[in-house]
Formats: sequence, C-alpha cells, structure tokens
Amino acid sequence: MGYQNVKFPENTKFLVTGGAGFIGSNLCEAILRLGYKVRCLDDLSTGKQENVDMFLDNPNYEFIKGDIKDLDTCMKACEGVDYVLNQAAWGSVPRSIEMPLFYCANNIMGTLNMMEAARQNGVKKFVYASSSSVYGDEPKLPKKEGVEGNLLSPYALTKRCDEEWAKQYTMHYGLPTIGMRYFNVFGRRQDPNGAYAAVIPKFLKLLLAGERPTINGDGQQSRDFTYIENVIEANLKACLAPKEADGQAYNIAFGGREYLNDIYMGLTSALNVDIEPIYGPDRAGDIKHSNADISKARELLGYDPEWSFQRGIEAAIEWYKENL
Ligand code: NAD
Repeated sequence: MGYQNVKFPENTKFLVTGGAGFIGSNLCEAILRLGYKVRCLDDLSTGKQENVDMFLDNPNYEFIKGDIKDLDTCMKACEGVDYVLNQAAWGSVPRSIEMPLFYCANNIMGTLNMMEAARQNGVKKFVYASSSSVYGDEPKLPKKEGVEGNLLSPYALTKRCDEEWAKQYTMHYGLPTIGMRYFNVFGRRQDPNGAYAAVIPKFLKLLLAGERPTINGDGQQSRDFTYIENVIEANLKACLAPKEADGQAYNIAFGGREYLNDIYMGLTSALNVDIEPIYGPDRAGDIKHSNADISKARELLGYDPEWSFQRGIEAAIEWYKENL
C-alpha cells in the first residue's frame, strides 16, 4: 500500500509541470522526500511562488518559470528528464465555459507541446492529469473506464482531447503515456481563495473565519473525494507501470462516495462551529453524482490507496487550521 516502497534508480529525474499548484507541489515534495531530483515548470498563472520557494534550498529541486504553450520551453524543460508528470492546466468547469479559447490553447495545445517535447527527449513515461469530468452526463455508477457520456463543459473536452492525443502519441510516436482521471482531489495547499476554489478548502476557510459558505444546489450531490496522498501514489506507480498499461487513462480516486451536506456537517462538527450554509443555485456543467470504480488502476498500475476520505479530511483540517 502507499508509495513509500516505490523505488527508482538513484539520480532519477522527474519533471512536474504545474508544480507550483496544489497537486504539482505535493508531487514535488514527495519526490524530494524520496531522494530523487525534480524540475518544476510553471507559469505561476494559478500556482503560487510560495509553493516554489519552499523547495528552493534543496539541491535536488529546480524551478523553471515558463509556459507549456511554448514548445521551446517544453523542450528545455524535458532535457535530461526520466519521467514527466504533466499537471499544468487550468481547472474549473464554470471558468472554462467563460473562456473556451484559452482552455483550448492552454489545456490541449499546452499538453500536446509537452508530449512532443517528452517524445523528442526520450522520456520513459508521460503521466498526465486528466479528470473525472470526461464521464460527462453518463449516469451509471460507479464510473468505469470505457463507459463515458456526453461532455458537459469545455474543461471536460480539453481533458478528453488530451487523452485522445496521448493515445496517438503512444500508438504512433512511441511515447509511453498514462492518463490520471482524478476525482475531486483535496488536501494541503489546495487554494481556498477565489470564485473557482474547490469546496473543501473554501468551506474550511469560511468556517474558520466564522462566515457562511454557499452550497451550490441542494447539497445532496455526491463525489469520490480523493486525498492527495493517493494521487501521489498513483503518479509514482504509473511511472513504473508495464508497457501494456500505456496509452490508457485510469480512474484515480479512493472508490468512496461522500455527500456534500454530510461533508459540511462533518467540517462544522470537527471545527466545533454552529454555522448554517447558504443554499445557492446549481452550477452549469455539474453532475449530481460521481464515484469511481478503481479496479483498472489497481490491476494495471498496482494502485492501492491507503487514505480513506475520513483519514484524509482529518489531516486536511489540521493543515488548514495551522496554515490559514
Ligand atoms: P492548480 O491550479 O493548483 O495547479 C495547476 C498549475 O498549473 C498551477 O500552478 C498553474 O500556474 C500551472 N499552469 C497552468 N497553465 C500553465 C501553463 N500554460 N504553463 C505552465 N504552468 C501552467 O490545480 P490542481 O488542482 O493542482 O490541478 C492539477 C491538474 O490536475 C490539472 O491538470 C487539473 O485539471 C487536474 N485535476 C485536478 C483535480 C482536483 O480535484 N484538484 C481534479 C481533476 C483534475
């Protein structure tokens, strides 16, 4: 279980794009903790300088401020790299509906540039962030790879395109690719600020400040909230996955199902506050329920998540209490 026993040769070098963001900075931290080298490429568009500064005194860490929309930057970033963990993208379903052209350029062309640069530099595995949003309006639960519905947002479309391009890069250009369909990741350093923040850090921040959070819809929606440590495990194991796993995408979740109202109540009780939420309208592009069948990742990647929602949320609450 977990990733503590995942071993790479000494001096293995990773490139984490989007390494100044939530998931990327946690990947950088884990790689450094395991004793390997990591280069972070980030344009700091939604990421934070502080997520870079915290590693700068480690000789195994290197930062390039740059944009994956620029192929030359991607080429330089891939020099001497064994594995790429491509996280750079803009998230948020509602923002993607407002900015379709930017999402196409950033999330599709950016990732395509990274695949091309990885291929030309002989990278051993190109592991990239996809999303559970590729399931679109498919109602069948749990979500299973191969049973996808109609896409509900430009964001979901960008991730579906990345998956299709990755298949092509494995099929025609010999680049081993593995897609990570993340399901609602949460944990330390997830940004609680702004209109597009994810629910858990947003609720925690407001509740800790004594303010009333807004729940979009009736709060009866459910999600497979996935603690960051499970995502780190999936990425590292994907790097070492056998050839038959290449050219495919995998559900990366815990395999549980949490209702928003229950999470809200759990947070208020853990923080010992008595604050009623405000119920707002449903958000465009959102689905009611989402939880994952993770058997494919278990089988082909050896993914065996050890952080349940409960264990993860307790760790996250502690972190936000100390760091907000
Ligand atoms: P984040 O916004 O915290 O991190 C993304 C990082 O990418 C930021 O640091 C940003 O500055 C950087 N970036 C964006 N565009 C870039 C560009 N053109 N060039 C260089 N850097 C760029 O988001 P996150 O939650 O850490 O998400 C990481 C990845 O996982 C994204 O691809 C996202 O779509 C995907 N994902 C996340 C979740 C989740 O629950 N957090 C769920 C599904 C998929």
